Amino acid sequence: PSMAQNGRVTTDFKQSNQAHNSNAFARREEIRQQRESLPIASVKERLIEEVKKHDVLIIVGETGSGKTTQIPQFLFSAGFCREGKSVGITQPRRVAAVTVAKRVAEECGVELGQKVGYSIRFDDRTSGVTRIKYMTDGLLLREALLDPYLSRYSVVIVDEAHERTVHTDVLLGLLKNVQKARLKSGTLDVIASKKNGTNGTLPGKEGISQSANVLKQSQDRKFPPLKLIIMSASLDARVFSEYFGGARAVHIQGRQHPVDILYTLYPEKDYVDAALVTIFQIHLEERHGDILVFLTGQEEIEAVERLVQERLRQLPESNRKLVTVPIFSSLPSEQQMRVFMPAPDGHRKVVLATNIAETSVTIPGIKFVIDPGFVKARSYDPAKGMESLIIIPTSKAQALQRSGRAGREGPGKCFRLYPESEFEKLEDSTKPEIKRCNLANVILQLKALGVDDIFGFDFIEKPSRAAIVKSLEHLFLLGALTDDCKLSDPVGHQMARLPLDPIYSKALILASQFNCLEEMLITVAMLSVDSVFYAPREKLDESRTAAKCFASPDGDHITLINVYRAAEDLLEKRKWVPHTERNEKIFKAKSEKIFKRWCKENFINGRSVRHARDIHSQIRGHVEQMGLRITSCGDDMLQFRRCLAASFFINAALKQPEGNYRAFGTGQVVQIHPSSVLFQSKVECVVFNEMVQTTNKYIRNVTRIEYMWLTELAPHYYTMQS
Ligand code: ADP
Ligand code: MG
Repeated sequence: PSMAQNGRVTTDFKQSNQAHNSNAFARREEIRQQRESLPIASVKERLIEEVKKHDVLIIVGETGSGKTTQIPQFLFSAGFCREGKSVGITQPRRVAAVTVAKRVAEECGVELGQKVGYSIRFDDRTSGVTRIKYMTDGLLLREALLDPYLSRYSVVIVDEAHERTVHTDVLLGLLKNVQKARLKSGTLDVIASKKNGTNGTLPGKEGISQSANVLKQSQDRKFPPLKLIIMSASLDARVFSEYFGGARAVHIQGRQHPVDILYTLYPEKDYVDAALVTIFQIHLEERHGDILVFLTGQEEIEAVERLVQERLRQLPESNRKLVTVPIFSSLPSEQQMRVFMPAPDGHRKVVLATNIAETSVTIPGIKFVIDPGFVKARSYDPAKGMESLIIIPTSKAQALQRSGRAGREGPGKCFRLYPESEFEKLEDSTKPEIKRCNLANVILQLKALGVDDIFGFDFIEKPSRAAIVKSLEHLFLLGALTDDCKLSDPVGHQMARLPLDPIYSKALILASQFNCLEEMLITVAMLSVDSVFYAPREKLDESRTAAKCFASPDGDHITLINVYRAAEDLLEKRKWVPHTERNEKIFKAKSEKIFKRWCKENFINGRSVRHARDIHSQIRGHVEQMGLRITSCGDDMLQFRRCLAASFFINAALKQPEGNYRAFGTGQVVQIHPSSVLFQSKVECVVFNEMVQTTNKYIRNVTRIEYMWLTELAPHYYTMQS
């Protein structure tokens, strides 16, 4: 090669490389400055000393002070990750685990999944060299099943403990035991509660070999103590401190600018509409600054997103400089990061968030907060054994957290969409989730961990006896427990292994016997995501007509399968068009575009379908590992419906003369939800998956079954009833 050519190439390369380097340099410098200006930076050394001195430490600090992103890095640099040990940080929310891990990887200048990674259900970005690992609290609970001493961690940080999710509460109890067990480095006994003399041996073949293994391990080597850090944004550290025998608590000073709180004069009938009006009021009347709106879920967020776009189109060109960015947990992770990016020049950003943005993630640039005052929460009625999602008013503590988000970088404003007199009526703080949810899942996991005496388990706050009893009964009905309340073999153990709600795990296990596991995998994946159909208020008729082409007269489960398969055909281009080379090429290039258009035309939520495909491939992996037979029932949907009846028999309902339905298990009078394909149909008997309560009690995801199947397929329940 000639010198000239070589020279040119090299210079070009150098130039672009230089540009890249200086960009990267600027970015690193920016990040360094951001980190140094965080309130937590000035107390780094003191914090490290505290962790060294105390095995349990409670850190309270205002949201945005740098707890989540900085403390793990402090610990890493202080040598807590020597000898291959890791720092694990748990988050109640998937989004927080993902976005924070990405940020910290960038701060450390490493690729995600190397030194810094995250692991959440159905998505693992860690490797053997990961030392700072963000994860959901539920995931760490699952890890404990395979590694009861959590031996790979030198420090576990339970973040956002004030949220008091059911997983956080159970995890705290578990960690307390692991800490004791590590000190003794003895047998697994300590892990199980000893109140009634159980020795903590895991039942079943697999369990016995597992604990024998652990015993051997612990004889071979001693475990170093486990450091435990509990982080919370709520000032009240007392509950945690008391639970850990008077553990040390430290407070980190934050910086907070004044926030003007504005209330409405009268109660708002429709808070979505009120939020919309407020967004435009701020946009047109206030100076620069981004807006954060708290909504209750994906459907609401997407509806507001569409409405904002529509109204923008009606404004003069010069007023259209407004961009919307959604954030909720099932949003694909690349899209979640968009909330952290500044809006294009001269534009204002409106972040539409669930209560994720309350304390878990801090978004820069927010000056205005719109708080309708509601949150979606789980609610459980132990008498009826029914869990439902309801929209309830926030607590005072939540309202304060939300308004605080407006004053991080300068003075801000918070618009509460309710009258001031309503604020006084709010509860002080949110009730821990463990007091208002179905405990079947938790009990199944505790049993798998060797905790047989659920009543004796050292919960930070005990769930009611009635709720425990009802949940045990539920597991018993599903065949997960034996007569003496041990995990059954193999069903109970298989169910504990699947990262799903027990009733779905059972459905998969049964489906392999009914030869319809392929269909059930799709169903469970589709039921695990937010709603697949959307019905904008303005286009209700159009969307209903579109949905009809997937509708099965048998019900929603088969309808969901139809949608999934249609999407699959599009994305994998299988049956859609004849397989010619030309088609193949065109569709390869255009399949994404076609999929998007197809979603739009059919009022289908593309994000949800993609998410379902993801979940599908993960659960498929699990059931394959378990050795279940994956076969399809083909066109024999009768078989599939029988399997649904056998799986969801606890949620069956019978038509009443006046047209309503009555749920067998609970005796509640319910109606089929308007979004169901069986809405207004006259079927006699159905099974369903979900109950939602608004003005009426509605059942969702409903399929037609024969009444007789129930006594045939679930005689243990239905002979008992009659
Ligand atoms: P805390 O846990 O105390 O609430 P964090 O450690 O989450 O605080 O946040 C510290 C700072 O890091 C905040 O100013 C926040 O805006 C910033 N930050 C966190 N994640 C990101 C991200 N992905 N991109 C940009 N900034 C981020
Ligand atoms: Mg945090």
